[in-house]
Amino acid sequence: MAGKRTFTMIKPDAFGAGNSGAILKMIEGAGFKIVALKATQLTPELAGKFYEVHKERPFYADLCKYMSSGPIIAAILEKENAVEDFRTLIGATNPANAAEGTIRKMFATSIEANAVHGSDSDENAQIEGNFYFSQFERVL
Ligand code: GDP
Ligand code: MG
Repeated sequence: MAGKRTFTMIKPDAFGAGNSGAILKMIEGAGFKIVALKATQLTPELAGKFYEVHKERPFYADLCKYMSSGPIIAAILEKENAVEDFRTLIGATNPANAAEGTIRKMFATSIEANAVHGSDSDENAQIEGNFYFSQFERVL
């Protein structure tokens, strides 16, 4: 059965451009409830840990540098079928391939600076939410 929670980050490009409010509005407008939220900034080491699954990929070093380059917003979101529905809302990794009306189509500037993160499985949604939030920082 599909889980009810996913995890997202508003990445440094979108945060820096002042698009966090518009993106959160789209997220809520699509029926997701925000059950944890914070603004923070990753160190390169923490970005490396978060994206460890990509460590063999050629863009890993650039990605860690980019993701630690400025503030981000981290959030846990709740909805039926959360992971899949959120991936649909954000669109393809490369904004050039993202569908009209998706968050990445509207706000991403490149395949790297693509505005938002969305977990790719229920298991990773839980791991990623726990990476940022203690049990006292979320709606139980
Ligand atoms: P996602 O699940 O759609 O976010 O995509 P992936 O898990 O495959 O990649 C993680 C993140 O790495 C993406 O969201 C981008 O920020 C970045 N990324 C992915 N592919 C590339 C690439 O080919 N080049 C660069 N520079 N960054 C990439
Ligand atoms: Mg991914």
